[in-house]
Amino acid sequence: MPSLNQQIFIGALLGLLVGGVLTQLGDASPVREWSLYACTLTAGVFVDLLKMILVPLIFSTIVVGVANLQAHQQIHRVWVATLLFFMTSTALAMLLGLTVMNVFRPGEGLHLAMFQDALTNFHHKQMTGSEFFTQFLHGLFQNPFTAFAKGDILAIVIFALFLGVALVVGGERYRNILNLFQEFLDLMMRIVGWIMLISPLGIFALLTKLVATQDIALLSTLAKFIVLVTGSTIVHGVIVLPLLLYIVTKKSPLWFFRGAREALITAFATSSSNATLPVTLKCTTENLKVSKDISGFVVPLGATINMDGTALYEAAAALFVANLAGIDLSLSQQMIVFATAMIASMGAPGIPSAGMVTMIMVLQSVGLPIEAIAILLPIDRLLDTFRTAVNVEGDMIGSVIVQKLVEGKEEISAAEIQ
Ligand code: ASP
Repeated sequence: MPSLNQQIFIGALLGLLVGGVLTQLGDASPVREWSLYACTLTAGVFVDLLKMILVPLIFSTIVVGVANLQAHQQIHRVWVATLLFFMTSTALAMLLGLTVMNVFRPGEGLHLAMFQDALTNFHHKQMTGSEFFTQFLHGLFQNPFTAFAKGDILAIVIFALFLGVALVVGGERYRNILNLFQEFLDLMMRIVGWIMLISPLGIFALLTKLVATQDIALLSTLAKFIVLVTGSTIVHGVIVLPLLLYIVTKKSPLWFFRGAREALITAFATSSSNATLPVTLKCTTENLKVSKDISGFVVPLGATINMDGTALYEAAAALFVANLAGIDLSLSQQMIVFATAMIASMGAPGIPSAGMVTMIMVLQSVGLPIEAIAILLPIDRLLDTFRTAVNVEGDMIGSVIVQKLVEGKEEISAAEIQ
């Protein structure tokens, strides 16, 4: 019997293959219709199970993680290292995206008018940068029950942070509550283990459906853009991030990918950093050997605010839209794109196509036509696969790097004491 890791890999490959066969059958085929129906059901149950466990899992993970870090007076170091890594890796991703778009200039030769059908049916909600920021800030502090019910990860992270710190500041008096959370977390991880048992089937169904429902004609019109965005996202995921990992920790990329594989495939198939979170946490602690305290803090926070793939996509897509509209963006305008794409990626929740919504702000920041999103929406399910996988990869590499940085500091302070 192949291991679960191998089963997931086989499930993914079979999904791509069967999806390809279904596309050949044509839209009217009953076999295709029934297969897609079965895949929709299976994939839906798998993603629902992941979402079911998500809120209680990350809530208990953060409370326990933060309480332990606070108890060992490491929390501020972890904060600094985490935010530093998030900013650096996101900036590198956007630089890569912008450079590639400036060199290859996809979209030149195509015109917005070619997509008139899509453009006329597009309705959007306008939001300026300052409105977006106000809404983002407002969303941070919420009634925890509202946040739980809505599955609002960032607001849950913030409340759990307060609780974790309060548990430690309160001292011995709250030891039982902390133990309770610890036990609860163990229970949640046990359930994650069960959900993972059906993940090969879930991933198979998700990928079959993904491949079988692509609009080939549209894909070929936008082929150059798709290849460039996907290519630079892959370069960021396969070269830039592993290089950062190697420079800081001397860990090999092979070691990383072997340990991260389950989470990366799940992210690719679900296009949701949030739904992948339970798997990401499992891989980070069990395979990559990051302490539960550090991964429990870095991974859930990163799932919402650290999105390298999304930032790269938003910056690159803005330049693509500029080319379509026949506008040449100056260097200073591209710097505005850089800054807004950073904020937009932080504000995007870890759900499918969230990046498309926050991209409105990026386009607006330099006066590009927002309607152009209508052209990108139909191909987004495909592009979202790679960018979500890289988003999740960034969180996992971030955890390993933060652990190394914090450990290093600990060794130095221990030496100073002696
Ligand atoms: N789907 C992405 C994620 O969950 C967000 C995005 O649309 O870029 O990480």
